Amino acid sequence: MLKHSTDNPMQPERLAAAPRCLAKTRAGTECQAPAVNGNRRCRMHGGKRSGAPNGNRNAWRHGDRSAETEEQLKAVRQANRDLRLITKFRQGQTLRGSEQDRLTALTKK
Ligand SMILES: [Zn+2]
Repeated sequence: MLKHSTDNPMQPERLAAAPRCLAKTRAGTECQAPAVNGNRRCRMHGGKRSGAPNGNRNAWRHGDRSAETEEQLKAVRQANRDLRLITKFRQGQTLRGSEQDRLTALTKK
């Protein structure tokens, strides 16, 4: 194969002039394919990317289980419990010790 031919339509000037990939092939030789722009390796040898994407961004579906959403849900559940407790108190029902403690903590604010 002619390495730097310019009369071959399948290997235009800019490809022929590109730096060569130096990755070691299975045959033990250097790859010699044109390196990707801004990289020293060709498209087959990690030129475009350096591996798997960072983080687990592809595991994200809808955010319903994100830390932020879970935190908000936790606050909503606590508010619901407090409202039920206040209703129970206003209806004159007897409160358990822990319920009494929570009501005291709420009214102190
Ligand atoms: Zn290569």
